Amino acid sequence: MGAFCSVIKFENLQELKRLCHWGPIIALGVIAICSTMAMIDSVLWYWPLHTTGGSVNFIMLINWTVMILYNYFNAMFVGPGFVPLGWKPENSQDSMYLQYCKVCQAYKAPRSHHCRKCNRCVMKMDHHCPWINNCCGYQNHASFTLFLLLAPLGCIHAAFIFVMTMYTQLYNRLSFGWNTVKIDMSAARRDPLPIVPFGLAAFAATLFALGLALGTTIAVGMLFFIQMKIILRNKTSIESWIEEKAKDRIQYYQLDEVFVFPYDMGSKWKNFTQVFTWSGVPEGDGLEWPVREDCHPYSLTIEQLKQKADKRVRSVRYKVTEDYSGSCCPLNKGIKTIFTIPCTEEPRIQLRKGEFILATRGLRYWLYGDKILDDSFAEGVSRIRGWFPRNCVEKCPCEAETDPAPEGEKKNR
Ligand SMILES: [Zn+2]
Ligand SMILES: [Zn+2]
Repeated sequence: MGAFCSVIKFENLQELKRLCHWGPIIALGVIAICSTMAMIDSVLWYWPLHTTGGSVNFIMLINWTVMILYNYFNAMFVGPGFVPLGWKPENSQDSMYLQYCKVCQAYKAPRSHHCRKCNRCVMKMDHHCPWINNCCGYQNHASFTLFLLLAPLGCIHAAFIFVMTMYTQLYNRLSFGWNTVKIDMSAARRDPLPIVPFGLAAFAATLFALGLALGTTIAVGMLFFIQMKIILRNKTSIESWIEEKAKDRIQYYQLDEVFVFPYDMGSKWKNFTQVFTWSGVPEGDGLEWPVREDCHPYSLTIEQLKQKADKRVRSVRYKVTEDYSGSCCPLNKGIKTIFTIPCTEEPRIQLRKGEFILATRGLRYWLYGDKILDDSFAEGVSRIRGWFPRNCVEKCPCEAETDPAPEGEKKNR
């Protein structure tokens, strides 16, 4: 708890405004409902405290809640760590390898990116997560991932309590009013009977909490596996996209280069210990990063500069092969698409077969980009920008990527 107290210092109090957002409100609401219902159900109807098992069960429930909230608030209030305003590399020569952020009036340290929501350059930025209303990055990667692990585990425990409560109570004494359901099973009956009867309201509340717990287990559990992949490869989702564009650039210009991702320490364990340490503070200072022996210390930022200088590789051109309604949860686009829905408030865009898109960034199953709008695109007049599932589009062959294809050429393809 010492670490928790150090987190909530006076200057952090202004950070409390992060709570005033739909993400934390919903997340904390779900945690409150599931843990309260699990404790009430245990004590009143399923596993009374005067039994040893009941006490252990109750302590475990409290334990989950405390650990989940601890990691959740840590992820939210400690934050990812921001690049200091006005930062420049120690060796001024190195600034030639870095991009400059006009907003922060600072060089962008390796692996950092400017977040429009936080309005700061974020150290080792992965994504801006609306559920913690903060970025996930260097400092909070471990607590964020632990939260993603603990929340499903706690929910599985809670779901077990909910199912068992409803099951035993349905057989025990049900006061729905329909007499036929009143099955008397003396074996399942608890002695002494609880003072509060398990009524319709308790049944409805338990069922609702069960739905929340199961939904959280699946959704958050998927996010946990995604974050673990990122940690074990030491490659953020933004860096995966930079790598993809690097390979595309090399292929397009038929260069005699091989892109090697510099921050992979060579083994999953080494990558893991970069983020998870016993002290709870990740390795390094978030500004300088160890690289593989065969890589230049700034090889990724050099690649980013190359991509920035090359108009063509700033985006990758895709052709729409399948309609997409623009819905947030496209049920017909496959299970992987549904479970990897980008965790942002950015818009989705509707796709029609045959349209063209310039993607500027992407995830494994989703892409973000601009729709190419016939003639107006050339003048840069109107833009339709947002996320769409990757399996609705296919990459256009490299040679046609120099300029938006004229109308006739589009029809031929
Ligand atoms: Zn910035
Ligand atoms: Zn952010």
